[in-house]
Amino acid sequence: MSSIRAIRGMTDILPGDTPWWQALEAQIGSLLDSYGYHEIRMPVVEQTALFSRSIGEVTDIVEKEMYTFEDRNGDSLSLRPEGTAGCVRAAIQNGLLNTPQKLWYAGPMFRHERPQKGRQRQFHQVGVETFGIATPDIDAELILLSARLWQRLGFLDEVELQLNSIGSSESRAAYRDALVAYLGQHRDALDEDSQRRLETNPLRILDSKNPDTQALLDGAPSLADFLDEDSAAHFARLRELLDAAGLSYTINPRLVRGLDYYNRTVFEWVTTRLGAQGTICAGGRYDGLVAQLGGKDTPAVGFAMGLERLVLLLAETGSNLARPADADVYAIAVGDAAQVQAVKSVESLRDEMQNCRLLVHNGGGSFKSQMKKADKSGAAVALIWGEDEVAGQTVTLKPLRQSAGEQRQVPLAELAGALHAALAESN
Ligand code: ATP
Ligand code: MG
Repeated sequence: MSSIRAIRGMTDILPGDTPWWQALEAQIGSLLDSYGYHEIRMPVVEQTALFSRSIGEVTDIVEKEMYTFEDRNGDSLSLRPEGTAGCVRAAIQNGLLNTPQKLWYAGPMFRHERPQKGRQRQFHQVGVETFGIATPDIDAELILLSARLWQRLGFLDEVELQLNSIGSSESRAAYRDALVAYLGQHRDALDEDSQRRLETNPLRILDSKNPDTQALLDGAPSLADFLDEDSAAHFARLRELLDAAGLSYTINPRLVRGLDYYNRTVFEWVTTRLGAQGTICAGGRYDGLVAQLGGKDTPAVGFAMGLERLVLLLAETGSNLARPADADVYAIAVGDAAQVQAVKSVESLRDEMQNCRLLVHNGGGSFKSQMKKADKSGAAVALIWGEDEVAGQTVTLKPLRQSAGEQRQVPLAELAGALHAALAESN
C-alpha cells in the first residue's frame, strides 16, 4: 500500500532541527519581553473577507496564494497568509485600542506558492505590531529591535536594512498616475505580468525582477519626488534616530512592499546568503488599516520575520546557538529487583534535580547493551543498579567522560549530592 505523504510545501520540523527552532524562539521571546512587548495568539483561520479587505484584492496573496474553502455552513474561510490582519481584527474586537499596544505573535502562515529553499506553503513568522503611536520614534524602535535580534543571533554583519517612505495614500495616488503615464508610453517593453499590473496595481511593477523592466524603471519618475510634507518630515526624523543609534541602512526608492495597506515607512532586511529568498524580515507603517477594518482611526507600525529563513541563515553563518542537546545522566538496571530500585531512586532524583536531563534505559537487556546506549547518549554519568547494589542499598556511579572522576559505589541516601558533584566536575 502506498504511504500517505505530507502536502507539498508543508514540511515536518524534525527532532534534529527543533533545538534550532527552540533556541531561536527563546531568543526572540526574551528580546521582545525586554522591550516590553506582549504576546497575542490568534486563530489560524479567519473570514476570507478579512484578508481581501486588508491585504488588497489585487495582490498576489489574495489573487492566487490563499488557501480558501467553504465552511460547512457556507462561510468563506481562509488559512491566514500573514498575521497583521488577524492581529488588527483581534485588537479591534477585544477593545485593545484605547491605549497604545506593543504586541507580537508567532505561528504558521499559509500561502500557495512554488516551494523552494526558504519558500514553503506552510511557513512560520514572528510578527510584531504596535498600535496607537503615530510618531517616528516607534518606527525607529521596531527597526532597532530587529537589528538587535540579528546581533544576538550572530549575523548582523550578513544582513542589510533597506528603507523607504511611500508617503500618504494621496501622494501615492499622484505618483501612481505619473508612473502609469510613463510606463504607458513603453507598454510594449513590459512583460505580460507588468502589463496586467499597469491596470490593477502599478506600484507593484517597481518590484519586478525582470531586468528589462528594471532598466525601463531607471527612467521612471521617483516616488521620493511625490512625498507629502508630513511624510517627508516623518522619514527625516526616522533617519535621524537611526543615525543617532549608529545603525546603517540603504535607501531603496523602489521598495514598495507587496501589500496594499502600508503608508510612509517601509523596510526590509535582506541577505545575500540565502539565494533568491533573501528577505528575512519586512514591515512598515499602516496607519489606515485599523479604520479600514472597522476600528477607530489608529496609527500602526509592524513587521514580520520568516523563521525558516532565519534558521537557514543561522546554519549558513555557523551559529552555535543550539548546541546538540546531550543527556546529563543515563540510568541502567539489570534484573527486576534492580529496576524497581532504579525507578524509585530516579523519581526522587527528579524531585531534587529539576534541571538535570536524566534518561532512564527502557526495554531491559544485558548490562553490556545498556552501557552501550549510555555511552551513545552523550551523558556525563551512568547510574547502574544490579544485584549487589540492591543488596547493599547503593548505586554505582560511573563517569562516562574523563573529567567526571572515578567510578564509585554510593549509598542511596547520598546519591543526589554525589551526582551533583560529579556533574559539576564534568562541566
Ligand atoms: P517574498 O518577497 O520573499 O515572497 P513577502 O514580501 O511575500 O516575501 P511578507 O508577506 O512581507 O513576505 O512576509 C514577511 C516575511 O515572511 C518574509 O520576509 C519572509 O522572510 C517570510 N516569508 C514570506 N513568505 C514566505 C514563504 N512562502 N515561505 C517562507 N517564508 C516566507
Ligand atoms: Mg511573497
